[in-house]
Amino acid sequence: MNRQTDVVIVGTGAAGLFCALKLPVEYQILMITKDDVDQSDSFLAQGGMCMLRGEEDYNSYFEDTMKAGHYENNKASVDVMIRSSNRIAEDLLGYGVDFERNGDELAFTREGGHSRPRILFHEDITGKEITSKLLARAQERDNITILDHTMMLDIIDGENGCEGLVIREADGSLGTVQAGYTVLACGGLGGLYQHSTNFRHITGDALRSQFVTGLRWSISIIFRSTRRHYIRRNRDDVF
Ligand SMILES: Cc1cc2nc3c(=O)[nH]c(=O)nc-3n(C[C@H](O)[C@H](O)[C@H](O)COP(=O)(O)OP(=O)(O)OC[C@H]3O[C@@H](n4cnc5c(N)ncnc54)[C@H](O)[C@@H]3O)c2cc1C
Repeated sequence: MNRQTDVVIVGTGAAGLFCALKLPVEYQILMITKDDVDQSDSFLAQGGMCMLRGEEDYNSYFEDTMKAGHYENNKASVDVMIRSSNRIAEDLLGYGVDFERNGDELAFTREGGHSRPRILFHEDITGKEITSKLLARAQERDNITILDHTMMLDIIDGENGCEGLVIREADGSLGTVQAGYTVLACGGLGGLYQHSTNFRHITGDALRSQFVTGLRWSISIIFRSTRRHYIRRNRDDVF
C-alpha cells in the first residue's frame, strides 16, 4: 500500500510518542513500530528521570553528567537536557504520569553518578509508567495512527531530500509512506549484542539509515522534505 501523511514517525518508544503528542493536532501523524506497540526499551526503563532542582543545582548536575560521560559529552546537548528537564517533567505530569510524591511535592531519589537526589520515579517501573501514559494519550488522538509490526526498510531519498519511507507492513507486503516530515525514533542498538537487556528488535536501524545517507549520528533524527537536520534527545523543539 502507498500511504500519504504529514508526518511519519518510526518508533513507539518514549521518543516517538512524545514527539507525536507535541506536534500540532492539525498534522496527520503515522507512527510505525516493528513489534507490538508496547515492546520498546522505554517500557523497560526502571530507575527514573533526572530533573534540575533549581538554578543552584545546575553546576552540580552538569558536572555529574559530564563525569558520567567521561567528559566526552557534547556540552551543548548536556545543557539542553538539563535546561529542558523541568518542562518535560511538567509535560509528562500533564499527560498523566504518576511520579512518586511526598505529600503534594514531587519525590526525588538518587542514582548512580548523581551527587544528590534529582531522579523522578514511579516505583521501579518508571519507564512503563511514562511510556504507557504517552501511548494512551497518543491512542486517544484522532490525528495519530499507529501501525504495529510494520518495519521501516529504507528512506525515500527524493529530489527534495527525504520524502518518506519504504516499509514492510504487518501482512508482509511492501509499501511506501510519502510524508512531509520523517522522524526516526528507533532507539539504540543493544539488540545487536548477544548479551543485552534491550529488546532483540532494537537494532540501530536509524543509525544504519544515517550511515547510508551520510548523516551525522544522533539518537533521533527528523527529516524535512526540503532540508535535513538532526535533533538531540530533547525531541519537543523540532518544528
Ligand atoms: C533494562 C533497561 C533499563 C533502563 N533504565 C533506564 C532508566 O532508569 N533511566 C533512563 O533514562 N533510561 C533507562 N534505560 C534506557 C532507556 O530505556 C532508553 O534510552 C529509551 O527508552 C530510548 O527510548 P526511545 O524511544 O529512543 O527508543 P525505544 O524505547 O527503544 O523505542 C524504539 C522504537 O523504535 C522501533 N523501531 C526500531 N527500528 C524500527 C524499524 N526499522 N521500523 C519500525 N520500528 C522500528 C521499535 O519497535 C520501538 O518502538 C533503560 C534501558 C533498558 C533496556
